Formats: sequence, C-alpha cells, structure tokens
Amino acid sequence: MQTNFTPEQLADPDIAHSETILRKCVHCGFCTATCPTYVTLSNELDSPRGRIYLIKDMLENGRAADEEIVTHVDRCLSCLSCMSTCPSGVNYMHLVDHARVHIEKTYRRPLADRIVRSLVAAVLPHPARFRLALGAAQLGRPFAGVLRSLPGLKPLAAMLELAPRTVPAPSTLPGSGAHSAKGSERGRVALLTGCAQSVLDPEINEATVRLLTRLGVEVVLPKGEGCCGALVHHMGREEQALADARRNVDVWTAEIAKGGLDAIVITASGCGTTIKDYAHMLRLDPAYAEKARIVSGLAKDVTEYLAGFDLPAPATAPGLTVAYHSACSMQHGQKIVAQPKMLLKRAGFAVVEPREGHLCCGSAGTYNILQPEISAQLKARKVANIEATRADLIATGNIGCMTQIASGTAMPIVHTVMLLDWAYGGPKPAGVPAGRVLEAAE
Ligand code: SF4
Ligand code: SF4
Repeated sequence: MQTNFTPEQLADPDIAHSETILRKCVHCGFCTATCPTYVTLSNELDSPRGRIYLIKDMLENGRAADEEIVTHVDRCLSCLSCMSTCPSGVNYMHLVDHARVHIEKTYRRPLADRIVRSLVAAVLPHPARFRLALGAAQLGRPFAGVLRSLPGLKPLAAMLELAPRTVPAPSTLPGSGAHSAKGSERGRVALLTGCAQSVLDPEINEATVRLLTRLGVEVVLPKGEGCCGALVHHMGREEQALADARRNVDVWTAEIAKGGLDAIVITASGCGTTIKDYAHMLRLDPAYAEKARIVSGLAKDVTEYLAGFDLPAPATAPGLTVAYHSACSMQHGQKIVAQPKMLLKRAGFAVVEPREGHLCCGSAGTYNILQPEISAQLKARKVANIEATRADLIATGNIGCMTQIASGTAMPIVHTVMLLDWAYGGPKPAGVPAGRVLEAAE
C-alpha cells in the first residue's frame, strides 16, 4: 500500500512503525473472510482491510479520531485472526494498538462510555476490587434488564450478566513465595498469577503449581507481580499499560538475578500475548528495552512450556472426549496450535476440534462488556459449533473464553492445565465426569 507520510511525521517512531506495517498490505482482502466482525456484520469497514484504510487515513492526515473510525476500531476484537490469514505479514496488532492510543488521546467519548471504561480499567485488573465487584453484581443482577434498555448502559448490564453466580473462595496459594520441586529439580519458573483469572478460577494456578512441582519444577510467585496490562492496553490507555509492564519487568528481572528463570509461565493466553509484546511496547524506553526483551523471550504459555517436557505415563485414564477451544490469543496471538492438543492426547483424552475454530468466541478481554451485542452473536455461533461435537467437556487456555462460553452452555468447561494436572496425579476438576484410575497418584 502506498503511503504519504511527511518526514516530520515519520520522525515519530510510532508513526514510522505503522508506516512500515501499512506498506506491507497489498489490499488483497484475504483477511476479510476470517474476520469475525466482517463475517457477522458484512461491512467492509468492519473488516481488517477496511480498518487499515481508516487508520491509514487518520494517521496520514494527522487528524483526531472521529465517530466513524472509533465505531469500527471499537468493534475490532483484536482477535488477530487476520494476522494468521494475511499472506503479506501485516502486523495488524501493532497497527490497531497504535490507532487505539491515538483514539484515546484525540477523541472524547460520550459520558456513559467514559464512565464504563474507567470503571472497567479501575476494577478488573485489581483482584481485591474485582472480587468485591463480583459480590456486588449478585445484588445488581435483577437490574440488568433495566440497564440494558438505557442508552449507553448496556455494558453495565453485560457485566452483571457475565458475573458468575457464585464467586470461588480465594486461592489457597500464598500471594507470593516459592514452591519447591518434588524430586530432582528440572527447572525454575515464575508463574504469573494474573488478575481477573485468580479471582474467577483460582484452581487454574493451583493446578499449575501442583503439576509443575510434581514434574520437578520449582515455581516462584514473585512478590509485586500484577496485571499484565492487556485490559487497559486494548482500551488505548498506554501509560497505564506501560506502567503495568514496567512493574512486572522489574519484578521478573529481580527474580532472574536471584535464582535464574527458565520461563515465565502464563496460564491465560490473553496475558501471554501481551507479555510477549513487552519487548515492543517498551522498545523506546532505554531503561527497560533490554530487560523487556529478556522477559518477552522467557514468556511461555503453560502448554508451550510443558510441550518441551518428557512427561511420565498418565496416572489416570479419563476416557473422556474433549472439545478443544483454541483461544484467539493462543492460536493467532502466540501461534500455539498443536501443543495443547498434543498434551491432552498424550494425557489420555480424545480431542475434537469444533468447526470454525478460527473465529473468536466474543470474549476478547473487555469486548463482551463493551460490545455486548456482537459478542453475544459470536458466543451463540461458538457454542453451537462446540455443542455439535457432542464432546464430554470443553478445554481451553484462557479465562476470558471460559467465562464467555460457560455463560452460553451447560457443558463443563475447564482450563487445559487442570485436565493435565488430573491426568498426572492431581484431583479431578469440579464438574468434570469421573475418570477411570489406572494407578495410584504420587
Ligand atoms: S483483529 Fe479480529 S476482529 Fe479485528 S480486524 Fe483482525 S480479524 Fe477482524
Ligand atoms: S490479507 Fe494482509 S495484505 Fe491482504 S488486505 Fe488483509 S492485511 Fe492487507
């Protein structure tokens, strides 16, 4: 694609980076067929190619964002399906991230939108606040219908409807500290305990610690770790996202200095995509660029880390068929496709893949709150495809997808690592049909 930025504009490193991305696009439109919003809305401006044109026009002319571009960029899920499809290697992720920052700086959203976004940014990344909010949602749920009928307040209704009816008890894991490897040590990792996930399903991290320590890996939960910044990053709140990234880079850098790390293990693929991008996000900060590069290089999804292990024979033969839902951040964001399925099969599960696996379930961070109508259509499509597999349960590697899909089906849904922990000697995850025990667990 031809671009017409001035030398003055190209002196801005963010514009220069976006220009190189734009120049790679050859307008072929292959990406439109796999874009969930284009598939749902059939509007070229809600396709990757359409958004690329809108973003190019806005950046090239150095103008403030207007309602049209905000509408179409807000509808983008950042699912990155377009990046998997694009034959020209267009880095749509960095382009849309840049556009979101530009929108945040130059566009004044309607009051209700500003309030909802500020609420989401102030609550979700903080486990204690999020836990309180989930408690309050139980009281507010009867008002969801009223909120849905008020202009601008549909996101609040969506929040109430998405909130689980029971909030799990806090995790039994201490907030920080080391969990020693059982037997001879084969590795040392830091585990990102995360923010929303640690409240919505604390058993995911508990299962990860059990499984890794049983496999001979010391698991450290470093003090001071927090939200990876993905939620605010996707809202264009650059300073907040960079502050989160710097805090985590400092914490993990100190842990590397203390005892070395083989990996920073992440159990939510949405977070993994962002942490792997810290190297880019902090590339212009001389105090952090190198440290962020090291951290991004160490970041690994738990299934990516486990795939490199020589695993023992499973302790349980579950005899179950699992519908594996590959989160967009897993398959498109991190290109982790084969490993989770391979691990589940090796652990004794039969694995089936739902049709249209490349399409987003509509969760996409805060998308199911901020764009509830498109999100609901995508959820219905995803659930229909999953239920058509007639599997015993669903496995996935991202808490956002788990919450979204669970709100549309009665099928049990668990994190992949919980099934692996069970197969290799851990407890059976709640709600999963019983398996057949082959041998005693360690
Ligand atoms: S990130 Fe997803 S929703 Fe956004 S343009 Fe690409 S395919 Fe479409
Ligand atoms: S597939 Fe790639 S090159 Fe083709 S229009 Fe989409 S982004 Fe541009």
